[in-house]
Amino acid sequence: MPEPLTRNGAASGPARPFPWFCPNCRRKEVRRVTVPYQCQLHYQGQPVTVVLANLAVPKCGNCGELVFDYEADDQINRAFEAQSHNLVNGTGTRENGHIEARESGGNEGERGRSK
Ligand SMILES: [Zn+2]
Repeated sequence: MPEPLTRNGAASGPARPFPWFCPNCRRKEVRRVTVPYQCQLHYQGQPVTVVLANLAVPKCGNCGELVFDYEADDQINRAFEAQSHNLVNGTGTRENGHIEARESGGNEGERGRSK
C-alpha cells in the first residue's frame, strides 16, 4: 500500500546533443528550431485545433521533418489543455443547465380552521 516513490516526469536525463539524425532522410541535420505549429486533436469527441505560435521542436534542416521529443510533446499538451479548457468553458456544453429551481411559493394557508 505505501507508495514510496512518486514518479515525476521531470526526470530529465542528459538530452542528446544536436544535431540528430533525421528519421526520414537519415541526414544529420536535425536541430531544435522554433516554428509556428498547429494540429488538430480531439477533446471529448470534439475537434480542437491546437495552435502554438512558437513551438520549439527538433527539425531536419534537410527535409523539414519534425522530430517530436518529450519537450515538444509537452508544449503541445499544455496548449491542448489550455485550449480545450477554453472550448469547454466557451460553449458551455459541460457543467451547464444544472439549475436548482426551488419552488417554495404557492402556500395556501388553508389550514384546518377550528370553528
Ligand atoms: Zn530529414
